[in-house]
Amino acid sequence: MQEIKIGSAVSNAAGIAKGHLKVGDLPDGRPVDIPVLIGRGAADGPTLWLHGCVHGNEYCGTFIIQELFRNLDTSELTGTVVALPILNLTAFRRKQRMSPFEGYGGGDLNRCFPGKPDGSLTEQMAHAIYSELKQHADYLIDFHTAMTTDVRWALYANAEGPVGDKAEGIARAFGFNSTLPAPMDILGGSAMMTAARDGIPGYIVEAGGKGPAFDPELVLDGCERLRNVLRHLGMLPGAVTDHGPLTYFSNFAWVMSTRGGLFQRQVACGDRIEAGTVLGQYYDLYGAPDGEARSPHAGVVLAIHPGPVMSNGETLIHIGLDPREV
Ligand SMILES: [Zn+2]
Repeated sequence: MQEIKIGSAVSNAAGIAKGHLKVGDLPDGRPVDIPVLIGRGAADGPTLWLHGCVHGNEYCGTFIIQELFRNLDTSELTGTVVALPILNLTAFRRKQRMSPFEGYGGGDLNRCFPGKPDGSLTEQMAHAIYSELKQHADYLIDFHTAMTTDVRWALYANAEGPVGDKAEGIARAFGFNSTLPAPMDILGGSAMMTAARDGIPGYIVEAGGKGPAFDPELVLDGCERLRNVLRHLGMLPGAVTDHGPLTYFSNFAWVMSTRGGLFQRQVACGDRIEAGTVLGQYYDLYGAPDGEARSPHAGVVLAIHPGPVMSNGETLIHIGLDPREV
């Protein structure tokens, strides 16, 4: 069996290897070592790469990955599962989206792939991670969250030919109903799009909300869907669950708030809306109703501001456009 080495995690045999990958240095010179898990099956097969917390306060995927590994019987696994459950550790430590040590670049790790060895801090982290991903991964699943616990949607890199077809297969096996076959000209610098351009089918899960806005039920459901992907890829035995038709979108629209105020939403994730649908109600500081937020587009609610307080420029709603059952 060929050795797989990612940072200090070394796998020579069936079983689970743990270690860390150094992706940078802290201001005091200590290493930024991110956790690495390698689940190695007894039989050779594909390598599925999983990562979470690309954005440091999007925890749900971290727990889905940990749940998978807690119950992973490598004697029945074909191939390898590589998992980096906390990618942006510096952001994770501050419970925020981006690294507190980033300089002037903004530092969104999911816009920095494939990274640069001599770029900004975040570009250097991306380079350290992506060098390993490109070398080892046959498939990529990247876990994110949005704003509230009821978030359940996904997207795959809709590349031409087999790369896109294989990514769609993962999307159907995971089976979140709201799914965007993502056009290749959006989300530049994301791990998913960068991998797809290198021939690695990529899929992003958006499950739950940032911070504590998710629950154990969502983690267990996400883990079972992930196991279904492994069955679909022939990496675990057993029948593949058919989730039936999915709702596909042509693209998505972000709508930012152009006003502030106390805010309570009136739609849930997954709801169908029309242009003009009331999304929520604003209140003034005395508690009196102070206007409604209305949707500029028809579609499906992918994410909605949780309230209760809105500032100008915050994301009011994220809408999947032109929903159709496929
Ligand atoms: Zn994210």
